[in-house]
This record gives sequence, structure tokens and C-alpha cells, in this order.
Amino acid sequence: MSDRYLDFVNSPFGQLLAKNLGLPSPQPLDRFVAGQPVVSGTVLLGAAAGSDLTGAIAQVLSNISAETYALFDGGVHQAAASVGLATQAYTPAAEDGQKFKALVFDASGITRSDDLIAIYNFFNPVIRKLAVSGRIIVIGRTPELLEDAKHATAQRALEGFTRAIGKEVKKGSTAQLIYVAPGAEADLESTLRFFISPKSAYVSGQVARVQATGIAGETPDWTRPLAGKVALVTGASRGIGEAIAQVLARDGAHVIALDVPQQEADLNRVAADIGGSVLALDITSAEAPARIAEHVKSAHGGLDIIVHNAGVTRDKTLANMKEQLWNLVININLSSEERINDELLAQGAIRQNGRVICVSSISGIAGNMGQSNYAVSKAGVIGLVNSSVKPLLAKGITINAVAPGFIETQMTAAIPFAIREAGRRMNSMSQGGLPVDVAETIAWYASPASNGVNGNIVRVCGQSLIGA
Ligand code: NAD
Repeated sequence: MSDRYLDFVNSPFGQLLAKNLGLPSPQPLDRFVAGQPVVSGTVLLGAAAGSDLTGAIAQVLSNISAETYALFDGGVHQAAASVGLATQAYTPAAEDGQKFKALVFDASGITRSDDLIAIYNFFNPVIRKLAVSGRIIVIGRTPELLEDAKHATAQRALEGFTRAIGKEVKKGSTAQLIYVAPGAEADLESTLRFFISPKSAYVSGQVARVQATGIAGETPDWTRPLAGKVALVTGASRGIGEAIAQVLARDGAHVIALDVPQQEADLNRVAADIGGSVLALDITSAEAPARIAEHVKSAHGGLDIIVHNAGVTRDKTLANMKEQLWNLVININLSSEERINDELLAQGAIRQNGRVICVSSISGIAGNMGQSNYAVSKAGVIGLVNSSVKPLLAKGITINAVAPGFIETQMTAAIPFAIREAGRRMNSMSQGGLPVDVAETIAWYASPASNGVNGNIVRVCGQSLIGA
């Protein structure tokens, strides 16, 4: 499961060889270490004329104590000062040696395609000044909610910029677009914190939507945002599920780790490590939904977060696939999630400001040779998110999914070498992600401050070329 090539090309000899042969040079990614600042370095903030999100952005930068510079005023100093953030003026010079850990641009004022030049004007002189594992974040207004067609067109165009720049920046840097709905300005914080920090190390080229859900948000202790929350994670004995359990526990949640009885020894180990508890059952068994609902109600009075992570692959081309393999994969990856959600909701077992979080896959977005059963199940997970947003919102609950790409686990270690190596390298980071990268994205969804984050499908794939 280790990436020996990444280790090799970061040795002095490997660097030389990779450079001369034109081989990919994956950069070891910055990852979050508890206790470190949200951003380790300076931030450059800019805004298109007429933008109205700069105050909300500056508020977050002030809350995380980011050392912030402003390029071309455009009202940035004034908006920042109004929320108590002191910004230093910056005029780019080719050889000034300045490096920025993040370039953040408020594009909400771009109302016509002609105005898109404002993104060029901000990023062109400073893009070379982005530090290793840097962050490019463009923030705009949700196109679908804009009445003016020209405004909606210009805002939709931003997506092309961040997706292209994600492919250009290299050296472990990422580019994202955040669309903020009118009325959701105060809900931007959890999303901006996630994307600007090393927690989003393997997420790039993504679009996140912050909605005005009307669910009353909670301002958490950002170092332990899940304190007092109860989370259930399926498939938690190993791989991505184990990392999710660890990260949610790090953030303060009591985690109920669920997996099949055959995995009980590993499950006990995971739960003991994080001070969580264990529920050993097969999620496809007829009694599973009722047993889960009964357990969370009797032991904890209810549940705040459920992460549907358990999943399997049984790859065969359709011509060679037995009906049993079709059914098994769809039952574990999709139908059991529907049954468990239905039962928990029918029993009122998920509390107000609750979170339902699903694990899809880029295979569910793009399809994959030999994975028709898996792709159906994972596209179905996206369907489950889309179709559940409305009914869950009525109960004050959000639902989102992650769609991982190539993550280093036992599941991907089983892929034949040549296909595995292609999956690992065919992305903007030239490497596979780690289970913790998926877990950090789930922790962003799970945060009590993410009440505006609803109906999102965010890929954790290093901007994989598959389905891009
Ligand atoms: P994994 O095989 O290492 O772990 C999956 C866990 O789910 C195992 O512990 C397994 O025992 C459990 N599980 C399977 N069937 C179950 C059942 N019926 N009841 C309860 N538990 C059950 O896999 P992983 O790589 O950690 O994948 C986790 C999730 O991420 C899956 O949904 C997978 O489809 C998805 N995913 C993984 C990747 C990747 O690259 N590893 C990519 C995209 C999506």
C-alpha cells in the first residue's frame, strides 16, 4: 500500500532521474497535524470590483489569524477593516521573493463575461508566487440562483478557471471554487477553513456549494468541533472507514465503529484506540436497520452523524458477471444505506442539525471498465444524496457525499499492477490519496458549522483525469 515511486523521486538520485526522463514528480503533500495553524503562510486576498463577499471572507481570515496581503485594492482593505482584519498592500514585482500559501479571490462582482478579465488580472502576476502545497480559492455566487442570465453565465465560467488552474499549479497545490448562495454568507467559514488548510490536501478542481438551508448553525470550538456529538461509521475496521473513525474522534465525537462480525478483532482495536464503541453486524442483514436504530437510541439517545462508508467491489465485465455479484455489490453499497436511513428517520433517531454522509466513487461519476455493478451502486449513492436533500432538510438534516479517486487501501492494493499504477498517477498530484484525505473531507461535512453544506458531491481524487 506504500507508494515507493513517490519516495524514490523525492530522493536526490530519483529527482535527477525523473527530471531527465520526464517522469512524473509527485510532491509529498502537506497534511494537517493537530495543533498547527489553519494556514502556515501568508494569504493574498483580491476581489473583482463590485464583489459583496469580501467582508465574509475577511471575517474567516481574521478568525484564523491569517497574515493577509491585498492586491489591487478593489475595496478589499475597507471590507477587511470592517471586520477587524488588517491587510497589507502588495504590489507584485517579478523578483520580490514573496511566497503565498493561499491566493483567495472574491469573484462575486463578475456580472458579465467581459468582467472575467478580473480573474486574469489578479492571478497572472502572482501565480508563480504560490508556495508548495498552496491553495487557490475562487469564491462566487451560485449560478443557478441568479436571475440575470449574463450574471449566471459569468459565474458559471469560473468553474473552467479553477479546473484548468488545478492542472497547472503542480507541487501539491490545489484550486477550488466555492459558490455561496444569497443568505448563506455567514455559513462560508467551515468550507473556507477546509479548502485553505492542509486538510484538503488531495482535493482539487472541485466546486463546493454553500446553501442557505435555514438550519440554525452552531459555532463550534474549531479544535474539537464534534465535541458532544455521536457518529456511526460503517466499514470502520480498516482502510478509509478506520481513518474516518479516527478523524471524527480527533474532532471530539463519540464514534460507534460498525463492521461485519468477521472483522470484530480489528473493529475492537480501532474502537479502543479512539475511545469509541463497537457494533458488529452485517449492514445487509434483515435486522440491521432496526438493530442500529435501537442501539443508537438506547445507548446515546440518538445520532448526530452517520457515515455510510462500508463498500465492496466485485469486478467483472458485464458479459462475465454472475447475477449474484451484481446483487451483492448493489445491496451493500446502496440498498442497505437506503434501508438504514429510512429506519433511522422513521424512528426519529437522527437529531436536529444531523449529518448523513455517503461514500460514492469517481467510478460512479465516470464509469469504469469491469465495474458496471460498482458504478451503478456508486452513481446510485449520488442519486440518494440528490433525492434526499429536500426530505432531510425538512428535519434539519444535511446529506452530502465524497467521491474518492485512487486511495491507498487494501481495496486498491488488490488491483493488478499496471492498472493500479495508472490510477495512482493519472491525476494532478501524480499520486494516490490516503484514507485520511477522505476522512478530513467527511469531517468538513460533519462539522456543526457546515449546516450550509448540503447536497454536495466532492471528489477526493487529486483531480483525477477519470471523469474530470
Ligand atoms: P476496504 O475494503 O478496505 O474497507 C471496507 C470495509 O467495509 C471493510 O472493513 C469491510 O469489512 C466493510 N464491509 C463490507 N461489507 C460490509 C457489510 N455488509 N456490513 C458491514 N461492513 C461491511 O475498502 P476502502 O478502500 O476502505 O473503501 C471504503 C469505501 O470507500 C467503500 O465504500 C469504497 O467503495 C469507497 N471507495 C474507495 C476507494 C479506494 O480507492 N480505496 C475509491 C473510491 C471509493
